[in-house]
Amino acid sequence: MRENWHERFADSPDVLKSARRQRTMVAALDLEIGGDEFITMAGPCSVETEFQLMATANHVRRAGAHILRGGAFKPRSSPYAFQGLGLAGLKMLAHAREACGLAIVTEAMSEEDVPLVAEYADILQIGARNMENYPLLEAAARSGRPVLLKRGLSATVAEWLRSAQLILDNGNPNVILCERGIRTFETATRNTFDVSAIALLKQISHLPVIADPSHAAGHRDLVPSLARTAVAAGADGIIVEVHPNPDKAWSDGAQSLDFAGFDEMMDDLEPWLALRGREHSRRRLGVARRESSGVRVMEAVG
Ligand code: PEP
Ligand code: MN
Repeated sequence: MRENWHERFADSPDVLKSARRQRTMVAALDLEIGGDEFITMAGPCSVETEFQLMATANHVRRAGAHILRGGAFKPRSSPYAFQGLGLAGLKMLAHAREACGLAIVTEAMSEEDVPLVAEYADILQIGARNMENYPLLEAAARSGRPVLLKRGLSATVAEWLRSAQLILDNGNPNVILCERGIRTFETATRNTFDVSAIALLKQISHLPVIADPSHAAGHRDLVPSLARTAVAAGADGIIVEVHPNPDKAWSDGAQSLDFAGFDEMMDDLEPWLALRGREHSRRRLGVARRESSGVRVMEAVG
């Protein structure tokens, strides 16, 4: 017998597709997430310095990214690790948006921080460790900003969708689901990328689904192939960590791509996106493209 998803996910009816609602497109600045364009969000794990952020923003924009990521409030595995620059980081993000026109996605970690983060961000990120922090979800919903809801480290799809439902119930229809890998018995990768969750959600939910291959993989060498897998599974976009000098990053350096690595990943995704009839090249500007010979040439800027 075929699964009755409406019965199975009875706690989150409004997140599921219905005759009336087949697809939600979430607007941020001039973009639509969940529409026909594959959306790339890219940037450092943490905002560190004005130089680091601006260099990354300029680079990823030119390589075709649509949205700049960067944490100012950081949920770290250890409470003794760098916790983020806070307000100073938010100001740097706003400055980067002004300078390069990219929308900003950044995390709010507590209910009290939501109004401040919402002042600066175009999209509020709810981190994996906070997926079930209901007061935070309610505050994020009420901020009126779109909410990027990461899957909890050990959350089932049902639990994840319940959190999405809570945001909808608090008057905010603009939820983006983000698969970032889950904890399993496997420890070779940082998390286990649950590509089946992407396939399932694209089938049953009208909400946009994006993938975070960086936190799933934990190793930068694996990020491009997980990104490719996300495209094949039907994801609406990806969120990827990029740093000018990953080995010196203040957080998540091992999984951050350098600029050349990001360019290669973007080039590599093109044919896979073309198979889906998608493109992410609308905004690509003067990026070095790989030729079949392996030689890099510059396209005209424009
Ligand atoms: C992040 O995006 O840098 C982050 C901390 O992600 P997650 O909440 O998925 O661990
Ligand atoms: Mn990170």
